[in-house]
Amino acid sequence: MERKTSLRLSCPHCDAFARVRKSQQLTPLYREAVVECQNPDCGWRGKLALEMTQTLTFSQSPNPDISLPLAPRLRNTFMQQMSAH
Ligand SMILES: [Zn+2]
Repeated sequence: MERKTSLRLSCPHCDAFARVRKSQQLTPLYREAVVECQNPDCGWRGKLALEMTQTLTFSQSPNPDISLPLAPRLRNTFMQQMSAH
């Protein structure tokens, strides 16, 4: 059985399920989406920002244009490796 992982969003006002209506990739690290509350008694719409913020595991095919801060734990490991050489 296939398992899909998707973002479960809830409306900040009424906590009902909020659905992503459309999204736009603005940069390789940043995406914006319009979300719409599915509760007809609420009717809230808003904007959602999705941003890649950290590297947890290094890419095997890194893009030189992308520079993301390393997660603190990864940075410590990296520093230890660097100072060991
Ligand atoms: Zn709502």
